[in-house]
This record gives sequence, C-alpha cells and structure tokens, in this order.
Amino acid sequence: MTLDLQKGTISEITSCNNDSAGVNTGSVRDAEGLQYLPATTDMHIHLDKHFLGEPWKPLQPFITLPGQLAFEKSMLASLPTTAAERARRLIDLLLSHGTTKIRTHVDVDPELGISHLEDVLTVREEYRGVMEMEIVAFPQQGLLRSDSLQVMKEAMRAGAEYVGGVDPAGLDRKVDRSLEAMFELSAEFNAGVDLHLHDPGHLGLYTISRFAELTAQANKGGRTAVSHAYCLGQVNEGESKELAQQLKANDVAIITSVPLDRPMPRVDQLVAEGVRVHVGSDNILDAWSPFGNGDLLARGAKLAEKFGWILDDELLQTYPLISAGTLAPKAGDPASFMLVAALNAKHALAYAPARTAAFSNGKLVGGKWAEAMTKA
Ligand SMILES: [Zn+2]
Repeated sequence: MTLDLQKGTISEITSCNNDSAGVNTGSVRDAEGLQYLPATTDMHIHLDKHFLGEPWKPLQPFITLPGQLAFEKSMLASLPTTAAERARRLIDLLLSHGTTKIRTHVDVDPELGISHLEDVLTVREEYRGVMEMEIVAFPQQGLLRSDSLQVMKEAMRAGAEYVGGVDPAGLDRKVDRSLEAMFELSAEFNAGVDLHLHDPGHLGLYTISRFAELTAQANKGGRTAVSHAYCLGQVNEGESKELAQQLKANDVAIITSVPLDRPMPRVDQLVAEGVRVHVGSDNILDAWSPFGNGDLLARGAKLAEKFGWILDDELLQTYPLISAGTLAPKAGDPASFMLVAALNAKHALAYAPARTAAFSNGKLVGGKWAEAMTKA
C-alpha cells in the first residue's frame, strides 16, 4: 500500500508498486512490513503539573485529599520551570508516542489565578497543526471549597472550552450546588463539562446520575464527561448497569486512566451498554504518582489486559477508546498515524511496540525515523 501525504491529509492510497520499494529519500519512505495505526488521543492529562526533566522528587503517602492538595501546591511552587515549559516537555513526550490530540485540565484557583491557563494557551498556539488540544479550566482545590467561581469565569473568557470540577461531595461538600454551579458556567460560556470524580460508592453514583440529569436538562449530550468515576467499579454490577444506561441515554462519556491500585469503572459493561469511554494518562511523574510514560498504546494494552480482552475482536475494540482515527486509512483522512513493527493491529495493541514513526497532519513528529533525522 502506498500513502500519498499532501497538505496534512492522506490524499491518495494506492496498492504498492515496486518503484518505491527500498526507496528512502526526503519525500519517499519505504515502510515495508510496518503496521499502520491511527494516532492516539489522550483524553485526560495535566500539562501544567508534572516533574518531567526535573531531579527525582520523593512523594508522600496519600492520606487525605486536602492534605494531598496542599502537598501538590508546595511541590509545584518549588519547581524552577514555568507551566509553559512543563507543557512543552509533556507535549513533546506525547508526540513521540504518536498522540496528536489531548484534553488537558489546567489548574485555576484564586491564588494561581489563570496564570497556568495563559501559559497553556500560549503553548497551544505554538503546537497548532501538530497537537490538537481541548482545555478544561480545572478548579483543583474545589470549585466551591476554594471560592473559584470568579476565576473560573475568567478562565472561560480567556479560552478554556470545558468547565472542570472535582468531588462535589468530598471537597465541595454540597453535591447538587457544586454540579449546578458547573452547569451554570457551562451555559454562560457555551462550554462542555468534565468532572473529576473520586467520591466513592453510592455517593459517587448519585453524583453521576445527577450529572447525567443536568446534562440532559442543559441539552449538553455529547459534550460532558465524568473522569475516573471509581464508584462505578465499587457498586454491584446491577447498579452500575443501570447507571450505564442513563449515561448512554444522556450521552455522557466516562474517561479512565486505568488505575491498577483501586476499583475502576467496568469498561466492558460500559462498552456493551454503548457508553462512550475514553482513556487518558492523567498523572505522569507528578505529586500524585511516579508512574506513567504518556504512551496511550501501552495504556490501551493495560486496559485490555485488565479486562481479559484476549480475543481478536476484544483487542480491536480497545482502539476507539484510545484513538479517534480508524485502523484502515482512507483518502481524505488527516495524515495522523503511526507505524510500528507488529504482525497486525491486534498484536500491536497487545505488545505496544516502540513507534518506528509517528506523523501528525503529515509531519513526522516522533519515533525512530524522527530520532534519526534529529541526529543526522
Ligand atoms: Zn486529573
């Protein structure tokens, strides 16, 4: 198969002719034997707070969320880098693994103001055309708890497209009011909503159900999501199934980082019920976790392994959770894809090999080919 890449899209696909076999010039590359995969999409990440490129930083045990929030704030304040420099470092890592679209949450609070957001907006412009970015204004310290309504408005005016929130019960201690405040902001700024939810069990279940009702009332189906939603893996299967049906009916997505250290949503059940599920890296070497390397293909492998997806169809059903692209390229598609050494797409998902090449809109952005060009 020959892919003709013009102006960032796949303009033509032809069956292989031998003229180009073995040819490797500036504009022609022989990818013989390599597997084509669509570029990945990381739907939950924090560009502004990680320690990539910094000396090792020991973490402390997680005891309470407010204690952890104070710890994170002090860690971030001690970093010599700006949020813009951190954003660039993490985006470069993601591109090297073939991720070309992300949703990043960016901290805002009355103390920080929108300084992190302004940095991330600047970096978004620098990477325009290579990394597609959705930005969530994230009141990490609690929307109501930290009195962040005004700074959230400032963030939405500055250019965030999603209203964030966190633990309406555990942090804000007013479930309905916290959710309503998020949806009031989303109505005022015609924005989507993406809630961080760690609140457990039936408290979390009630919160998601109310979130789905508010989504329907606001006519925001397709534009809202609950991230983490551990409670969906803590209640019984019948209860999580009932809520999955409500999520499907109101088109609310669930976003997971596939945690191994705690219960997580039953992704197999959510997929079977037709709920949109997306995967994100979330914490990568930060105040919350030293784990993670920004490789969404590897995270997809972790998800499939966690749910015992060993059959071909099961392995393949992982791709829509980590990518917005398709496994078979079509003329007219954006030329955002990766090439890996694997027997087929199922093997690639299970094995998550290093990227031989990663392209974003026709531009080589990662993998061994890009490294070789940098060295040359
Ligand atoms: Zn997060």
